[in-house]
Amino acid sequence: MSETENTPFERVALIGIGLICSSLARVIQREGLAREVVAFSRTEETRKKAASLGIVDSVADTPEEAVTGADLVVLGTPVGAYAAVADTIAGHLAEGAIVTDVGSVKGSVIDAVAPRLPVHVHFVPGHPLAGTEHSGPDAGFDTLFQGRWCILTPLEETDAAAVERVAALWRRAGSMVDIMDPSHHDLVLAITSHLPHLIAYNIVGTVTDLEDQTKREVIKYAASGFRDFTRIAASDPVMWRDIFMNNREAVLEMLGRFTEDLSRLQRAIRWGEADTLEALFTRTRDIRRQIIAEKQA
Ligand code: NAP
Repeated sequence: MSETENTPFERVALIGIGLICSSLARVIQREGLAREVVAFSRTEETRKKAASLGIVDSVADTPEEAVTGADLVVLGTPVGAYAAVADTIAGHLAEGAIVTDVGSVKGSVIDAVAPRLPVHVHFVPGHPLAGTEHSGPDAGFDTLFQGRWCILTPLEETDAAAVERVAALWRRAGSMVDIMDPSHHDLVLAITSHLPHLIAYNIVGTVTDLEDQTKREVIKYAASGFRDFTRIAASDPVMWRDIFMNNREAVLEMLGRFTEDLSRLQRAIRWGEADTLEALFTRTRDIRRQIIAEKQA
């Protein structure tokens, strides 16, 4: 293990302690990666919950208090709150502190956060590609990031040593780390994560508009296809609202392609083009096999 991977942080401040940051807190505790971990959450209820779980050393009442003296600050609120959080903490960040985040969108996060931070800190934007449809600190677990990718999207001027320290943290969480351009990250995630969620929200939304008797039957006879959509569509509404508000261009680009392809399928069904359908369903099966081969199933 390299020196960097061995070096724990002195004080880690988690700003927001929901599913993702509470899972990270559990990893830091398990691996002994910090002398002290302090968490801030917006509500008293979540602060109490985080404290009672015993996954952090202390809970701060304000973000300013949490980041004071921290050498690593992790932003873990919905991305729409980042600008306000950055404004609040900017004047309290220690010289040389690393600020990273776990937000699902990167371009707009960089636009919102980077200009608000003082020049004496290192900003390393990040996104662990791991999650569940559950929220809050009690939903977290220390193996959430195991075998999953974590994408870092540092700016050109970001200090390489700071990037490496954040990468080392995620490797200790069991993740593989990739460095990517933020706009490329947003495009890839638009199709792999954001569009599937939009489709799930839409299909389940269609059911909510059906008349009562039919709706009851859909719920009663939910076959595994629909059931899987309902799991995805149970994801946190605020987090997903913020993702779509902050990755508009890439999502609209992928949605355009998707609707074109859907129209083609609609046409194939209308005109009885069985071969077209079978050829597509065969190609899509192959993608599934590749994901299984990559151990990302
Ligand atoms: P979560 O479980 O819902 O927790 C959110 C945390 O942010 C809570 O501590 C919450 O505080 C706080 N918060 C919510 N709104 C806030 C606001 N307006 N101002 C300040 N704090 C606020 O969320 P999560 O699933 O961990 O997601 C956190 C981040 O990780 C998001 O940016 C998301 O895009 C990213 N992410 C999520 C997943 C996933 O699958 N869930 C995967 C990868 C990345 P209170 O509870 O006190 O209100």
